[in-house]
Amino acid sequence: MSAAPSQTVRTSGKVLKSEVLDDIRSGRLESLSAEEILIWGLGNFHPRMALSCSFGNPEGLVLLHMLTRLEPSARVYMLDTGRLPQETHDLVDRVRDRYGVAVEVVMPDAGAVQEMVRAQGQNLFYESLEKRKLCCRLRKVEPNRRFLADLDAHVTGLRREQNVTRTGTARVELGEGGRLVKINPLVDWSREDVMKFVRDHGVPVNRLHQRGYPTVGCAPCTRAVEPGEDIRAGRWWWENPEDKECGLHAGEEKDGSGI
Ligand code: SF4
Repeated sequence: MSAAPSQTVRTSGKVLKSEVLDDIRSGRLESLSAEEILIWGLGNFHPRMALSCSFGNPEGLVLLHMLTRLEPSARVYMLDTGRLPQETHDLVDRVRDRYGVAVEVVMPDAGAVQEMVRAQGQNLFYESLEKRKLCCRLRKVEPNRRFLADLDAHVTGLRREQNVTRTGTARVELGEGGRLVKINPLVDWSREDVMKFVRDHGVPVNRLHQRGYPTVGCAPCTRAVEPGEDIRAGRWWWENPEDKECGLHAGEEKDGSGI
């Protein structure tokens, strides 16, 4: 897992070191801890790597805590869909104060959202799966794709047990065309592992978690869950479980948005 310069491979206009490709394809990264895989990512990609943090899941904050301690100038970004609850914006400012990290806030294309709302209304997502995915695509997937186009790697808080759509997630994945490396350091962590880390390290998390929200996305598409209810039950609760991805992580961003 050397980060030393040597032979390179050109993929879709970008250049990945052959050692990086070897590391990913050999499967040996699967045995590394979360911190070890972040060190591997920083060594190979920083500053062309960024953590995707929704500020609505404790996983992203756990990674932000780890990453900024390993590299204070590590990059962190969030997607501001325009429909996030105030508690999420409050958390961004708390994190800026505590960690001194300049969170890169990525916005949707204003013209595209304006046209969608004009044609479909403010709350189109309740009307059909197709309209929900359209909203996710314009507010999340397209801005995310635009931001990632300038990176070589991104870090996510995906865990296999989060959803039926995520059970096959690997610790490190190569995106379509070998264009972008996706690093999932917490892929084999349980929810209990995440919350223990939060408690042990005093990691700031979204205040809505205390009010029954296991995850927090856009305000109109997130609700609190009952005790014992599935952790993802509060997201797009009117849809089938297999449809519950926003497209950010589904088959690489083809359809909609899963933050
Ligand atoms: S989660 Fe809801 S409001 Fe947010 S982008 Fe998707 S459909 Fe739109």
